[in-house]
Amino acid sequence: MPAPVYDDLGALAADVSGCTRCALAQGRTQVVFGSGNPHADLIFVGEAPGFHEDKQGVPFVGAAGQLLEKLLQGIGLSRDEVYIANVLKCRPPGNRDPLPEEIAACEGHLWKQLELIQPKLVATLGNFATKLLSGRPDGITRVHGREQWHSLGGQRVLLYPIFHPAAALYTPRMLQTLEADFARIPELIGLEPAPLPAPLAAAPEPVPEPAAPVQLGLF
Ligand code: URA
Repeated sequence: MPAPVYDDLGALAADVSGCTRCALAQGRTQVVFGSGNPHADLIFVGEAPGFHEDKQGVPFVGAAGQLLEKLLQGIGLSRDEVYIANVLKCRPPGNRDPLPEEIAACEGHLWKQLELIQPKLVATLGNFATKLLSGRPDGITRVHGREQWHSLGGQRVLLYPIFHPAAALYTPRMLQTLEADFARIPELIGLEPAPLPAPLAAAPEPVPEPAAPVQLGLF
């Protein structure tokens, strides 16, 4: 069967609300698809819904969400101006880490969200979103605050890894790092896409193969 084409996020959300691609479907109250401005320049991608998100059907409404809202306020933004989503759309039991097979089952929903929203800047919150969207194994401690240009869904997009706000709930000195990384967001939203690397931007003319040497009857 061909993959369905979605005109807007609402149609995609309606479809994803009945998702049974992995076992998390059995334990959830509801799918937590994402929320905010469907035309946002900036999207935040977290890890997975927790207890409150599962109950309310909205991402980042618990303690980590309150901190995210505060950090947004600090740079003059509200959550209605940005879009917020997660790698997993359903709550893992006991808020355990996402399993590789759950990420594999769910990631298609996120890629479609990104294709429809076409953000300029994707802020990945924590390890799971950062590794999935960058396609690299580097951990968040190493790459936070370092923007990287990527092609997502045929678009040039700036990926910006940031610590997950929950990290600052457990380790308060992390708050300063988060604030410093957030402070760069307004500047990053305004950046023009970096050109594609030279070999892709302008493929050199193919050099004709030299004519095959005439085989001498050596054997
Ligand atoms: N943590 C996340 O990663 N996502 C949520 O939606 C809530 C907490």
